[in-house]
Amino acid sequence: MEDLFELDKKHFIHPTSSIIQQQTDGAKSIMAKGDGIYVTDTNNKEYIDAVSSLWNVNIGHGRTELAEVASEQMKKLAFSSAFSTFSHEPAIRLAKKISELTPQGLNAVFFTSGGSESNDSAVKLSRHYWKIQNKASKRKIISLKRGYHGVAAASTSITGIPEFWDMAGHLMNDFLHAETPYRSTTEKAIESLQSMIEQETADTIAAIFVEPVQGAGGVLIPPADYLEAVREICDFYNILFIADEVITGFGRTGTMFGMENWNVVPDAMTFAKGVTSGYIPMGGVVVSDHIHTVLKEKSKGTLFHGFTYSGHPTAAAVALKNIEIIEKESLVTNAKERGLELQNGFQKIKKESSIVGEVRAIGLIGAIELMQDSATGQPFTPDVGVTPAVINALHERGVISRGVTYDGSNILCFAPPLIITKQEVNELISRISDAILFVQHQLGV
Ligand code: PLP
Repeated sequence: MEDLFELDKKHFIHPTSSIIQQQTDGAKSIMAKGDGIYVTDTNNKEYIDAVSSLWNVNIGHGRTELAEVASEQMKKLAFSSAFSTFSHEPAIRLAKKISELTPQGLNAVFFTSGGSESNDSAVKLSRHYWKIQNKASKRKIISLKRGYHGVAAASTSITGIPEFWDMAGHLMNDFLHAETPYRSTTEKAIESLQSMIEQETADTIAAIFVEPVQGAGGVLIPPADYLEAVREICDFYNILFIADEVITGFGRTGTMFGMENWNVVPDAMTFAKGVTSGYIPMGGVVVSDHIHTVLKEKSKGTLFHGFTYSGHPTAAAVALKNIEIIEKESLVTNAKERGLELQNGFQKIKKESSIVGEVRAIGLIGAIELMQDSATGQPFTPDVGVTPAVINALHERGVISRGVTYDGSNILCFAPPLIITKQEVNELISRISDAILFVQHQLGV
């Protein structure tokens, strides 16, 4: 048998990875199977998948219903084009279903195969929307620092984490990043947004992109009045408000879509991940009736934008079954209820440990911030490597989580599958507590 670890080193360039580390240490785990909230590697070690892999396996692993529906659809019509005047039933039914689930007035869907494609599509659609109304100067895109929106051409530039820009060497023209309300206030963040708009002038700005909860930035939950204030700014300056619901969509935050927590309706939402729980790639942009009407009435000729796999019939059939499971098993409610238990567990850990600063969660997405001295808020210096140490300790204890060390922060992120039970939340909390206390002891703080 060829050694998978050696083959991995030799042939597989991992996404978002340290190539040097991959070459020296090799893969840490090669996953072989999954069941519920658990995944098992080729050494038969079982882990709690505490970030739902990449914040996406919402219904948990090993759901044969999805495999069956994919198999049936593949046997019937695995693929067929949706270009131009062709269509097929799974994509039509999925577009209708998503229109029913999204807030009122968002009723038309453009499909993609993932989050980056969705955000790139939303950039192009928003510019097109203004251009066909004779406002071609409205091209600029504003998003937030620490926001993550993907790695395709435009989504790389919407992303507000400079490390992702460096790959391309620079940002594309016409992308701007305003202050996030994280470690700040709504007033300051809105002031930053407003002064940027005033400086650039509103007639050059197409859209503002915001994640309801910044995920990859470190699970940053906005203050209660922030998203409403962004809505007001967009209305006042005539700018489209695009919510990136790639992580927050399909139940993650205890509501079907993240924006519902703040009762704010954007002009468009981008989605991916949870729409199929990662069983097959799928994403999209859902737009307001107003945008849809403008596109229908003012577009001249062809909409020159579409992917081979836009509305892929097998992916659409899987998405429909996935959404049916989310609804039938009340997973949105479960996310809310188990999320409160997760939050209580985090509070308990904060009381036990001197290196836990802030803890937060909304539904089943949460974070623990590590600090050298939680009483004074003194941060760890990067040379301590506290976040990788806890991530390693968690790995040893059978928990897969994710650390954010960007810009001096030390944040542990958690987003377990929405099917998690009360007992499993308790088990997760006990392992996290054990790992943090172990590292705290090792550091002698
Ligand atoms: N938007 C957000 C909020 C994300 O978290 C991600 C991925 O993590 C993306 C967009 C990009 O999605 P994808 O990796 O499917 O292209």
